[in-house]
Amino acid sequence: MPVSTFDLFRLGIGPSSSHTVGPMRIALRFVRDLEGRGCLERVAHLEVHLYGSLALTGRGHATDRAVLLGLMGQAPETVDGDTADALVLAARQRLALALAGRHAVDFDESCHLVFHTDQALPQHPNGMRLFAADADGNTLADLTMFSIGGGFIAEESDFPAGPKPVSHPWPLPYRSGVELLQLCAESGCSIAELAMRNELTLRSRDEVVRGLDGIRRAMFECMDRGLRHEGVLPGMLRVRRRAPALFQALQQRRGTGRPMMELDWVNAFAVAVNEENAAGGRVVTAPTNGAAGIIPAVLRFYEQFCNPTGREASHEFLLTAAAIGSLYKENASISGAEVGCQGEVGVASSMAAAGLAAALGASNEQIENAAEIGMEHNLGLTCDPVGGLVQIPCIERNAMGAVKAINAAYLALSGNGLHHVSLDSVIETMKQTGADMHHKYKETSLGGLAVSVVEC
Ligand code: SF4
Repeated sequence: MPVSTFDLFRLGIGPSSSHTVGPMRIALRFVRDLEGRGCLERVAHLEVHLYGSLALTGRGHATDRAVLLGLMGQAPETVDGDTADALVLAARQRLALALAGRHAVDFDESCHLVFHTDQALPQHPNGMRLFAADADGNTLADLTMFSIGGGFIAEESDFPAGPKPVSHPWPLPYRSGVELLQLCAESGCSIAELAMRNELTLRSRDEVVRGLDGIRRAMFECMDRGLRHEGVLPGMLRVRRRAPALFQALQQRRGTGRPMMELDWVNAFAVAVNEENAAGGRVVTAPTNGAAGIIPAVLRFYEQFCNPTGREASHEFLLTAAAIGSLYKENASISGAEVGCQGEVGVASSMAAAGLAAALGASNEQIENAAEIGMEHNLGLTCDPVGGLVQIPCIERNAMGAVKAINAAYLALSGNGLHHVSLDSVIETMKQTGADMHHKYKETSLGGLAVSVVEC
């Protein structure tokens, strides 16, 4: 069953949907469960254990900060950046936190937050166990959950079959690209219209339109902040932000006729979003935080350079992109820890290619072709973040993914939609490639650039 546009595009904080947003949701879920059972005030002892990729790259991905915030009752959609910093600092200074914001419990990260870097849980690479006991040592809660990419979370009972698909009563359900095209042909509608008809079972048309405008606005606000913010990104790499300089250079070059200027703009757009993400700022997960710059950059490219036909075309872009992203979410993975960066940047590139093609008036077949090209040339892309930070290669990689998406859309538009490799085949290939990929290339920072680049 397809995932809702509003499940795929969600407001969160950086730098990672799987390592920041997901763990924060899990910690919040844990305290809500304790509250729901009336046990919260009895908690005297608390432990959190991180496994697999969460343990290996959790510190660089701010998983520790996310866990603290979730335990203190903060949600990724609503947490305020300044408040978050103050809360985390206070908890660290006092070696204690206010569970759900109201019940004080000792929490010394050096012993109560354990990074099991040599251990992974069998169900999924991003495992997390939370344990609470009362003053007599009686267990109050013992919860194991998984952050499965894009901010989605899963329970232990979801395995081994895998997480249950998000279930909505869609009137037009589809499980594959072939089914999606067939349904569109039978209903005489575009992919975006089909996605809209499905969304209308959950909310009114007005609400969908307002929601899409809200996603677009949040994406562009994040980008605009990134184009202005100068300085150095957090972490030991001391990476200097590049987006403001790129932006200023572009303002000065206006009207100079420099070839491929649009490319420079797309680079600046994507880099701006991912620098904001790397700094722990507010971003739209699209479909992950690590790949959050691609869809906004391509959408801004469309609005700025392609004679847009109105805000409906931007809605069409987002609905189409989400319909394609849903196929990856349900049939493969959008988690770098599960399938490498092809599942993050590759998927975002495929979604953006489809969205741009749709906004430019492509047929459903051309859109499917654009999505397929967008992934085909990202197959095998590994995840090897240097220092466990979502910075190198992630930030530049978003610029490359956005440019590929634009090229994929134009290549598809130059044809008639007939092509050799189907989107379904490329999704299956991505899944298999991810399964075959050595775990050191799947968000562990144990291989690739993460070990070739000397950190200083
Ligand atoms: S390399 Fe790709 S998958 Fe890995 S953290 Fe960076 S953006 Fe995410």
